Amino acid sequence: ASMREDRIERTKSVCTYCGVGCSFEVWTKDRDILKIQPQPDAPANGISTCVKGKFGWDFVNSDERLTTPLIRKDDRFVEATWDEALSLIAEKFMSMKEQDGSDALGFIASSKCSNEENFLFQKMVRSIFQTNNLDNCSRYCQTPASTGLMRTVGIGGDSGTIKDIANAELVIVVGANPSESHPVLATRVKRAHKLHDQKLVVADLRKNELADRADFHIHPEPGTDLVWISAVTKYIFDQGWEDSEFLNNRVNNVDEYKKSVEKFTLEYAEEITGLSKENIISVAELIHNSKGTCILWAMGVTQHIGGTDTSTAIANLLLVTGNFGKEGTGAYPLRGHNNVQGASDFGTMPNFFPGYEPVEDEEIRGRYEKAWNVDLPKEPGLNNHQVVEAIMDEKVKGMYLFGEEMGLVDSNINYVHEAFEKLEFFVVQDIFFSKTAQYADVVLPASPSLEKEGTFTNTERRIQRFYQVLEPLGNSKPDWKIFQELANKCGADWKYDSPAEIMDEAASLAPAFAGVSYKRLENWESLCWPVDKDGQDTPLLFEESFGFPDGKARLFPVDWSKPYEAGDEFDLHLNNGRILEQFHEGNMTNKAEGITHKAPNPWLEVSPELAKERGIETGALVRLESPYGKVKVRVLVTDNVKSKELYLPMNTVDEVKAVNKLTSSYHDKDTHTPNYKEMQVKMEVLEAD
Ligand code: SF4
Repeated sequence: ASMREDRIERTKSVCTYCGVGCSFEVWTKDRDILKIQPQPDAPANGISTCVKGKFGWDFVNSDERLTTPLIRKDDRFVEATWDEALSLIAEKFMSMKEQDGSDALGFIASSKCSNEENFLFQKMVRSIFQTNNLDNCSRYCQTPASTGLMRTVGIGGDSGTIKDIANAELVIVVGANPSESHPVLATRVKRAHKLHDQKLVVADLRKNELADRADFHIHPEPGTDLVWISAVTKYIFDQGWEDSEFLNNRVNNVDEYKKSVEKFTLEYAEEITGLSKENIISVAELIHNSKGTCILWAMGVTQHIGGTDTSTAIANLLLVTGNFGKEGTGAYPLRGHNNVQGASDFGTMPNFFPGYEPVEDEEIRGRYEKAWNVDLPKEPGLNNHQVVEAIMDEKVKGMYLFGEEMGLVDSNINYVHEAFEKLEFFVVQDIFFSKTAQYADVVLPASPSLEKEGTFTNTERRIQRFYQVLEPLGNSKPDWKIFQELANKCGADWKYDSPAEIMDEAASLAPAFAGVSYKRLENWESLCWPVDKDGQDTPLLFEESFGFPDGKARLFPVDWSKPYEAGDEFDLHLNNGRILEQFHEGNMTNKAEGITHKAPNPWLEVSPELAKERGIETGALVRLESPYGKVKVRVLVTDNVKSKELYLPMNTVDEVKAVNKLTSSYHDKDTHTPNYKEMQVKMEVLEAD
């Protein structure tokens, strides 16, 4: 090789965008990122990636990166040393804890950061700041899915792997748009559908790309999925198509559950969902005629007042038909962020230690108290939603948030900004000066995945290592180092030399990760938790037993909750979601020139019928108004949406177009996940074309 080629480094990393967890080599020369090279050994993706994983890395070398700590002085931010910034945080938080009590502090973790960083953050919050007021952004998306699964099968993760989905005879996708949100996973489904005659049913308000290819696209009224899913289940019981052997041997609560679905007759379902009886019967027949069914779902299900209950109904249907514990079956909530699974797994939740062990359980808490040599708070803390309310009530006065653009992605952001302004002391740690950072008292510069090592856990519960590619830019630091330094400023004596040591500690404390170690995760090796002490992992869950002490699953009766209604004046339904090129609000992808060029601004999708009625064309400028706020956007007329349903992508760092100016503070009744998808608006035309 020439001298030139000698200087090219190839380092294995894992994508920082979505939960599919693609891994690949990153080719660099000095700080230049030359190429992303997937390898056949990559467990989730093989040689595939999508546009974000392949081209979305300009943000790492962006001029806009934060490279030095900032402290607010009056209305300006001034540069500070790490020592000044961390001393100030330690002093403020420790004195607030002293004066107002530990629960006057709130902490929000990042599902973009590593498992080790999340582990260390929860250790700092619990052992030093003495509170369980701790949460991560799965509260905005997937907590209802996890909760629905914990109720029924006892483990809140995907039942199997992406490969297992490809092996199913029938795949049902509910309220998800994998072609844009989980592109490489969608490719697997599309291939199986084409080559192996896999059947595909998509239930969605929008004719997304997968819906367009499906054997069957059903379009229920917004927020009524629980009803048609339960009607399918009842119809299956009525026909005697349930898997009696499976129910007898492996499932509790069958009789009570069977009674609870009595009300979901075909007539009732037809009335509430707007689907025909034939539609519902066809779905039941497809399940009955398939050897294995997988159900995939995402935010279209979870972000509703009844998000947890609908997720539960999905698990119930799979249990009744014996669709767990075999390849090509099971429940697949599609995780959004690269490490949204891992952030919760490693304990940044108000009620769970790592591995979903309850904080109230004395024996479990005792294990951590002994290891950390400190008493720990006994009661579950406040979640993201409750923290905002507690700030408004002046109960929470100090907050620390890392790698989370809460000021754009929480619902009803005008209200959230008011809360930020009320905080006495607010720390934001990020790679960019985010919208949220504008409200901070101290801003700490962190390093993205390419500048550190660690592990991420993808939607399959698969833990994968990423290696350090570049040095941290300027004075930025990996998040775990920042937590360690802050903890030590507060009197701890932590001496972690590397993330591997943090993982060892997590493995020694949480049984779900007992056999996880960096040694077992070298290069393309990976482990799907639970992992026993000997390193045996579990790609496919529930083969022998479910996640309850008696090993049996539980059918869990649920009822339908009517979606939130804003009032007659707000006559249009507004849906929102992702687009392929951008990721979330776009803090990272917006810094990639190729991507901003392709997908500059969100457009409001309007149906041809509605466009005609309002006399508008593509390019029209409209103002949308809800009871909570207003946005101004341009229109794209498309038959992806029907009649009075609108669709606005969530990707914008421009507040004028931010969909969360419109969303409300209503939420899933079980988990407080905002009901982002239950939004009514009115539309005023500002320019017709
Ligand atoms: Fe990254 Fe997801 Fe695209 Fe894979 S599918 S490259 S994990 S964004």
